[in-house]
Amino acid sequence: IMQGLTPCEEKIFVSVRLRPLNQKEISRNDVSDWECINDTTIIYRNNLSVSERSMYPAAYTLDRVFRCDCSTRQVYEEGAKKVALSVVSGINASVFAYGQTSSGKTYTMSGITEYSMADIYSYIEKHKEREFLLKFSAMEIYNESVRDLLSADSTPLRLLDDPERGTIVEKLTEETLKDWSHFQELLSVCEAQRQVGETCLNEASSRSHQILRLTIESSAREFLGNDKSSTLAATVNFVDLAGSERASQSLSAGARLKEGCHINRSLLTLGTVIRKLSKGRNGHIPFRDSKLTRILQSSLGGNARTSIICTMSPARSHVEQSRNTLLFASCAK
Ligand code: ADP
Ligand code: MG
Repeated sequence: IMQGLTPCEEKIFVSVRLRPLNQKEISRNDVSDWECINDTTIIYRNNLSVSERSMYPAAYTLDRVFRCDCSTRQVYEEGAKKVALSVVSGINASVFAYGQTSSGKTYTMSGITEYSMADIYSYIEKHKEREFLLKFSAMEIYNESVRDLLSADSTPLRLLDDPERGTIVEKLTEETLKDWSHFQELLSVCEAQRQVGETCLNEASSRSHQILRLTIESSAREFLGNDKSSTLAATVNFVDLAGSERASQSLSAGARLKEGCHINRSLLTLGTVIRKLSKGRNGHIPFRDSKLTRILQSSLGGNARTSIICTMSPARSHVEQSRNTLLFASCAK
């Protein structure tokens, strides 16, 4: 499948994943108002009021929409695999999960990260003519402060500008991956680090961005007579974003206070950057306005490949946030 992939400017692949109603929603007699009518279109089934009709589209068309009975495997295969695996060919990539809290971002992204890693390992198995070096790191951005998820030290990390490598995260732990079980071990370290010091996990995870980052370097083995200088290096980022309600412009100041909903600078800036990239690279793109976009700059736009999976609840009670998510998705495409 890697044949035919050449570095080129490509648009961002944007998909939507509808999750099933959960127990909490079912028990309060919430209903599902959304339906994927084909592979690319999702519609709002409930009647729109007259005032709503002028404000909201009833149908949204994306690169792909995944019904609530789609497995994470299917979402991966059709929505993320091509982007994530371009890293083995030396192309930088980012896969994002975007959506309101409890819409399924972590559920989706953790599956996608595992499937990607498994496919990367099997690609390496099949390409004995090359030698691969895998490096793994993990970080969290919380209130514009960057923390290493592979280190017990929670001191905020500084971002530095390197003339050759672009923005680098100073002192970020980078583990050379030995094998699959080492990767699993590091994932559990991340998980444990994420929970350290958090009094209320849901609150913290709704506000923070998690970036799992894999860098692959490869070179042709000498004994096959290949050109030894043909080394490749690239990075893929798996990004579990803060809840999209953190970028919500539609909430009144009062509602924002009541819900403790602080606008998240990294999420807002990411939205702006993605919208500008999707319209072509003309003009200024404000990568430098937030920690998240600085860290991801070399893996966004240009020659990099990007997939955004927008997760949403089908529940009537979440219609406002679901529309915001679909508007974001439409603008990113
Ligand atoms: P988020 O990270 O967006 O806050 P989660 O991924 O934690 O949301 O999902 C919230 C809950 O819903 C979790 O218990 C998760 O297992 C469940 N869930 C999410 N998406 C799905 C899905 N597509 N199918 C079944 N359960 C899901
Ligand atoms: Mg989550």
